[in-house]
Amino acid sequence: MNIQGQLLLHEGVYEMANHSEDIITYFQKLDRSFFMDELKEFAYMDEAIPIGYEQTISQPSLVLEMTLALDLQPEAKVLEIGTGSGFQTALLAAFSKTVYTIERIAELHERAKERLDEAGFTNIHFKLDDGSTGWDEHAPYDRIMVTAAAAQVPIELVEQLAIGGRMIIPVGTPLHQELLLLEKEEDGDIETTVLDEVRFVPLKGKYE
Ligand code: SAM
Repeated sequence: MNIQGQLLLHEGVYEMANHSEDIITYFQKLDRSFFMDELKEFAYMDEAIPIGYEQTISQPSLVLEMTLALDLQPEAKVLEIGTGSGFQTALLAAFSKTVYTIERIAELHERAKERLDEAGFTNIHFKLDDGSTGWDEHAPYDRIMVTAAAAQVPIELVEQLAIGGRMIIPVGTPLHQELLLLEKEEDGDIETTVLDEVRFVPLKGKYE
């Protein structure tokens, strides 16, 4: 995968039609090294890379797969749990109206905010907190992206998902998880689809 190139600034991209091809094009031009302070020489490998504090910047192909599966919409309000480097956050923010993102590690939260501010994003709200029970204040969310692995699906996140909404979350043990797509139907029922087998760092907190 070639994702070399310059980070696209927000201007212009926001107006793009919301098709998968546009997301893929944007993603291919998104400079992953911009989201890393060290080990930049490994930025263009399709691997998760350490970003300090026992955390990783996610594997690019998985970030793209999860983003496409979320089916972002221009008017969508998105909740992200696990800001990390801000790499996934940039993709979410470029193709939705507003992103609320939560990170529990202060240094990662600060750096991600600096980077995304520098890149010109104005539609991202950052919070330093344990996000395992979501961000109730701004619910319901049209889309929820969880970038750390839970032992089970947090009921609070299901409750904060809008009718017709979609959530992506890795669920399983620390060493092996299923990447789940949850869709909330008109009657409130949840349809669950297993998308992939993955290995993410743990979602700390109530669902560890
Ligand atoms: N997608 C991000 C990227 O590409 O940089 C990587 C996210 S990393 C795999 C998972 C992140 O979730 C870490 O930054 C970790 O600190 C954060 N995290 C874990 N548990 C959390 C929690 N309960 N609340 C908020 N953030 C949490």
